[in-house]
Amino acid sequence: MNSLQPALVQLSGLTKRYRTGGGEVVALHGLDLSIELNSKVALMGPSGSGKSTVLQLIGGLDKPSGGSILVAGREVTKLNDDALSSYRNTTIGFIFQTFNLQSHLTAQENVALPQILGGHKPAEAIARALTLLEQVGLAEKAGRLPSELSGGEMQRVAIARALICKPGIILADEPTANLDKDNATHVLDMMSALELNNQALIVVTHDDRVASRFERIIYLDHGELAMGPATQQAAS
Ligand code: ADP
Ligand code: MG
Repeated sequence: MNSLQPALVQLSGLTKRYRTGGGEVVALHGLDLSIELNSKVALMGPSGSGKSTVLQLIGGLDKPSGGSILVAGREVTKLNDDALSSYRNTTIGFIFQTFNLQSHLTAQENVALPQILGGHKPAEAIARALTLLEQVGLAEKAGRLPSELSGGEMQRVAIARALICKPGIILADEPTANLDKDNATHVLDMMSALELNNQALIVVTHDDRVASRFERIIYLDHGELAMGPATQQAAS
């Protein structure tokens, strides 16, 4: 890794508090973290440790209570609503546990949609969508509706959709949680084979087998960086 290259994502003192009926939940306690260009990172930790919150804050889906989020040198927390919306569309590719495909659109249309909404010519977006579906091994199913695809296939469509705008940061929150073992393996094979091009991939997962395929594993516990199970064992 080139230490002279600035990190793609730099979180400093990142804090997130949620207000709930029962009071306040502190989801992140001043998190400091940097993620380099062209790195694939697994984010692990127990349920409720703040993993989804980290992704939502990096992805501009929610605002922190304090601290800083620098992405390619830009302070995301200072973006106004328009700039934030453009940041979400152009810099971030989100992959959800529940796929979130449009049920009335074909696989190809689902993949093309972010580019069409971003103002690209529909014909070009549709053509590019097919290239991406080829990359995830689904070209022959381009014309199918989500209801005509397996869970694993739907997730591969969602991955192609996340990639179409060439996002700088690809965020995946437990992308295999709703898949059976074979489909999960297939989706993860694809993610580990993904060639990054001045991008970063951050995947939240509970699966050690998955995480071990990534070059870096970050553990969270109670909204703070933690030592992983292996490190804890080695230290004890
Ligand atoms: P993880 O993804 O690691 O399971 P989350 O980031 O979803 O953890 O949640 C971290 C903490 O913040 C948990 O205590 C959770 O209950 C709380 N939390 C998350 N989202 C909300 C919300 N919208 N409102 C209130 N509390 C929330
Ligand atoms: Mg979560």
